[in-house]
Amino acid sequence: MILEVREVHAYYGKSHILQGVSLEVGPGELVTLLGRNGAGKTTTLKTIVGVVAPRGGSIRFMGKDIAGLPAYRIAAGGICLVPEHRGIFRLLSVEENLTMAARKDSPWQLDDVYRIFPRLKERRKNGGSQLSGGEQQMLAIGRALMTHPKVLMLDEPVEGLAPVIVEEIVAQLTQIKKAGMPIILVEQNLAVCTQLGDRHYIIEQGRIVHCAGNAEFLADDSIKDRYLGVN
Ligand code: ATP
Repeated sequence: MILEVREVHAYYGKSHILQGVSLEVGPGELVTLLGRNGAGKTTTLKTIVGVVAPRGGSIRFMGKDIAGLPAYRIAAGGICLVPEHRGIFRLLSVEENLTMAARKDSPWQLDDVYRIFPRLKERRKNGGSQLSGGEQQMLAIGRALMTHPKVLMLDEPVEGLAPVIVEEIVAQLTQIKKAGMPIILVEQNLAVCTQLGDRHYIIEQGRIVHCAGNAEFLADDSIKDRYLGVN
């Protein structure tokens, strides 16, 4: 496994939010984390990257225990979170946003990112604030790639985007996955999850209550009904 999260607990003040979360992602695998609002999805990602301190449990990344390390060290080691609100620099151009993040040793250089996201190449001189929501999301993912991630974590990358843009981003994530990148995807859009995911975890009140491979997940409407309130 590339990343193994075992029985992790996390708190905001006295609120016990993660109550023993366990999940793992292997080489080239895309796993999704699904659950209702407030279930603890974003907190799980923030705990993996060290923004929220885990209390109890272990987080192993490429064989090393990283629980409790400062966030900058975890990021430098190659776990990259693309947050829900994208975090791009609005006053910098697309290309400046990308080159700022660049690492020489990354297999993803500017041309590789432009190959996956041709719209970013077209818009390379535009400022971040001139981009559409979908383009901002593409830029956030492209920028993450340039930092040489060994695991990519995406928090609701298609939320609020038009269906045609969602399809474009799904195709782009498929290419990134095919290049071998392990990915953890938090997403409420079930169609997106089942198009991309190898496995799916369902979180409820800070605990993983179900894990299923994609075929099993697709076949079993009761899972979706029971835990997600949809099918
Ligand atoms: P959503 O889809 O709504 O983002 P989520 O599954 O990502 O949901 P989290 O954001 O992880 O949920 O939140 C889990 C719980 O922690 C919720 O009850 C939320 O209100 C609470 N919470 C989140 N952030 C904080 C914070 N900074 N301080 C205190 N409580 C928080």
